[in-house]
Amino acid sequence: MSNNGEIKPIELPSSVTVRELSERLQTSPIDVIKTLMSNGVMANINQEIDFDTAAIIAAELGFEAQLEAIDADSGKDKSAIPLWRQWIAKESPKNLKPRPPVIGILGHVDHGKTTLLDSIRQTDVAGGEVGGITQHIGAYQVKHNDRLISFIDTPGHAAFTAMRARGAQGADIVVLVVAADDGVMPQTREAIAHAQAAKVPMIVALNKIDRPNAAADQVKQQLAEIGLVPDEWDGDTLVVPISAKEKQGLDDLLEAILLVADNASILANPNGEVFGTIIEASQERGRGAVATLLVQNGTLKTGDVVIAGKSQGRIKAMFDFKGAPITEAPPSTPISVMGLNEIPEAGEIFKVVASTKVARSMVTQRKLDDEQSDAAEHTGMTLEQLFARVQAGEVQELRLIIKADVQGSLEPIISSLEEMKVEQIGVHILHADTGNISENDVMLAATSSAIIIGFNVGPDPAARRLADNEGVSIRTYNIIYRLTEDIDKALKGLLAPEKREVILGRANVLMVFSASKIGKAAGCRVIEGELFRNAHMRVMRGDEAVFDGEVASLKRHQEDVREVRDGFECGIGLKGFNDFEEGDMIECYKIEEVKVL
Ligand code: GDP
Repeated sequence: MSNNGEIKPIELPSSVTVRELSERLQTSPIDVIKTLMSNGVMANINQEIDFDTAAIIAAELGFEAQLEAIDADSGKDKSAIPLWRQWIAKESPKNLKPRPPVIGILGHVDHGKTTLLDSIRQTDVAGGEVGGITQHIGAYQVKHNDRLISFIDTPGHAAFTAMRARGAQGADIVVLVVAADDGVMPQTREAIAHAQAAKVPMIVALNKIDRPNAAADQVKQQLAEIGLVPDEWDGDTLVVPISAKEKQGLDDLLEAILLVADNASILANPNGEVFGTIIEASQERGRGAVATLLVQNGTLKTGDVVIAGKSQGRIKAMFDFKGAPITEAPPSTPISVMGLNEIPEAGEIFKVVASTKVARSMVTQRKLDDEQSDAAEHTGMTLEQLFARVQAGEVQELRLIIKADVQGSLEPIISSLEEMKVEQIGVHILHADTGNISENDVMLAATSSAIIIGFNVGPDPAARRLADNEGVSIRTYNIIYRLTEDIDKALKGLLAPEKREVILGRANVLMVFSASKIGKAAGCRVIEGELFRNAHMRVMRGDEAVFDGEVASLKRHQEDVREVRDGFECGIGLKGFNDFEEGDMIECYKIEEVKVL
């Protein structure tokens, strides 16, 4: 409730990339990434972050974020209205049947969301005894007045995930928890914005009324000021005083939920197309990918083929929230399922498709689309790109991140690099530290188009992967003058490109025979890629390379050919090699020059 005067208002969309956020906040993406990291969120510059996360980052950088108003005409920010709801709206009205309401619980951290979810689960669990629940699956159902209510139960502490946004996205009704002793706080306002954006009705649970310093009227006043006028003051918002901890007022809250549900026409076609939302997912030992789904339309059955984001699979087994096996799940049912080939992302829409073949081709297409957009989004820089940008007047410096094994080697490296300047290009050291090259270093490099130098240290595996994905160059050295020499050459544009091997194809040796002119040749079948006569070939016996050299002959049906494709047989002779054995593997490769810096 404090306001220290300097805070600037800003409107943000329900989802924003790190780059766009930094532009809107007029700050560098590095600052945004650093702030995210200090809050435990690893994100790269092109990553989408949800409004909640963006709002918290904005707050740390001196802004108060509001969810951008939806521009209905332009269709902008359509994401605010959940896709599944748009799909249900396409069903023919005569097929729609009432279904249990799905409730999302939102609110400021520590206002009691988790406690409330636990208390409701303990008192009113559908089907009776709580002891029957063997697993927490991220959603559950209770029965009140003989009617089912589904609750999305994702961990309350996850302030920095998309969970709260998702709570509003998957829900029919939002219960906004406001602590009576703390009042309306920033995340309360965000939650309201989410619910309003998703056009989801809200009920306020005025929590912690057992506290001596609870100030119910004051909080109602605050709520009224931001547009949630309590019903007892002739407004439209049901405000239910409760104590989640003492289990007071819970029945009233469930009553209120059913009342709102009755006015909200919560419907679906149980016989229609099957789709819903992924609530949670994880890899479980011996069970593979296990996902909690909320069915929102149709009836999901075991044996159905499901696609969710880039994962797909046939539902092998399905369990209700208590862990009991079931074979059918009608609308609004939270279930956990086994059978997906990968872990889908929480918040994603799942859908039943006709066959595994359809699912696979859809996933392949989605992956391809992603790769293409990833490739377009690479932010790392090669030397070539650097010079192109220098010529375009965009960059006047070679940005470096330096990691070394000890402080003692760091200092001379920094001082010698800082002196370097060739024509208009200088060296700018963004960050220098001891230790291995980490994901953070790579992220910083990616955001700032920098190159990473390791001295007696290398990247850890996660950093290597990220660098590959982001197109960040990492160069490692163990002699200082080599390092400075390379940088000097890089600045002069003279650095020799690094050579890299690219495997073009592989073939199995099926038999060995004598060929008059060249000695022994191998009869092979190409099992992967293509073999080329003008490329290099390497003979692998198990893990060992027994020969590496050039092609003497490449034939199909006695005819010389330039190339042989995957699936075809061919005869191969290699210059200076006569020791083929059945079972050898021939690798065909070329050497590619890559600009490294
Ligand atoms: P969340 O961050 O919104 O999920 O909040 P929690 O459910 O973790 O609650 C935060 C703290 O408030 C915990 O220490 C709870 O025991 C306490 N708490 C939650 N509800 C009540 C309540 O109704 N009365 C009192 N006195 N404390 C509560």
